[in-house]
Amino acid sequence: MAVERTLSILKPDATRRNLTGRINAALEAAGLRIVAQRRIWLSTAEAEAFYGEHKARGFFRDLVSFMTSGPVVVQVLEAEGAVARNREVMGATNPANAAEGTIRKLFAESIEANSVHGSDGPESAAREISFFFAAVDIVG
Ligand code: GDP
Repeated sequence: MAVERTLSILKPDATRRNLTGRINAALEAAGLRIVAQRRIWLSTAEAEAFYGEHKARGFFRDLVSFMTSGPVVVQVLEAEGAVARNREVMGATNPANAAEGTIRKLFAESIEANSVHGSDGPESAAREISFFFAAVDIVG
């Protein structure tokens, strides 16, 4: 399997509870290498643009409001099959359905405040990485 990159976000519920180190440890234990990382506070316009594909969904305004409620950590993860590997360690969107040992099972507060974002495919990974990082910022 080819070495890939994926975009990960540690969400405001995670930064608020000072969980960035524990979540990064879980990502690294799963074999994902953090090859770029930055702590930022998303503007409403940035959150709306990032989640543009969810615009028609009923929870869109709540999601944008949550994602701008505090700082986030945006990061690029690298590994063989990084996209699927990250989705696996993240766990299901709703923590009630997340498998034991996954980040969302361990840390998520709710279906919305679920601690982490991860790209859901190679195309979205490329788009989402370029949303936050220039090639020069990523050190593999
Ligand atoms: P993901 O790929 O597992 O993050 O899930 P989705 O792409 O379906 O949803 C994006 C994000 O929207 C999720 O991670 C949640 O933060 C939020 N979300 C998803 N479903 C719901 C919902 O039913 N209600 C609310 N309030 N937020 C949701």
